[in-house]
Amino acid sequence: MSDDPREQVRLGCQVLDLLGQSDLVWGHVSVRDPGGRGTWIKARGLGFDEVTASDVVLVDRDGTILEGDGGLHLEYPIHTEVLAARPDVSAVVHTHPQAAVAFGATDLELRPIGHEGALFSPPGPPRFTGTSDLINTSELGAAVAASLGNHNAVLLVNHGIVTAGRDLPAAVLGAVFLEKACRLQLDAAATGRPLRWSTDEEAVAKRESFGGPGQMASVWQYLLRRVQTRVEARTPTV
Ligand SMILES: [Zn+2]
Repeated sequence: MSDDPREQVRLGCQVLDLLGQSDLVWGHVSVRDPGGRGTWIKARGLGFDEVTASDVVLVDRDGTILEGDGGLHLEYPIHTEVLAARPDVSAVVHTHPQAAVAFGATDLELRPIGHEGALFSPPGPPRFTGTSDLINTSELGAAVAASLGNHNAVLLVNHGIVTAGRDLPAAVLGAVFLEKACRLQLDAAATGRPLRWSTDEEAVAKRESFGGPGQMASVWQYLLRRVQTRVEARTPTV
């Protein structure tokens, strides 16, 4: 994958759209600037499927656009504050996926119903309840980062999710897998029957067997092929 953060953000947006995480023009992907200048984030006003590398802007922690054309999402502090709080993280995703928002509104603890849940549970992602409104100040962004703590995801109750990754694929796949884990548990719980889930020991083991770097690299390469095929299908040939 390209080292260019603009290209990485583009790919993250395209993969999220491919896997059903688009919510009109809402939601964002960001990558830490390798030179320490700030955060590269998708510009506002565009759907994930529309984002190109030129629709990605570099913003500092105060919200000043340092490079690139395009407006800034009101919720950019989610990204700048999580990246400030977590030196081990280099990419952040914020989306509003339906199952995760529905799940976040319950008092259920996320359980490893399928493989994906094992990446988040035990102990299950925290819930941020400071506000269900937009995270549009540095104070609110810092509060979300504090709620995230050392986890790889946080549920913003009545709003959406935030995932954090050591690299872009980890943050993007985190959002995809969290949504699927929430969907599986909601579907299973809807039966009204007692639930069974992986033991803690199995769940932790699955982080290597299912969620290890080899598997994730293979998944990511597959998704890049899917994105490329789709882009080519949309590109007119002369
Ligand atoms: Zn939001």
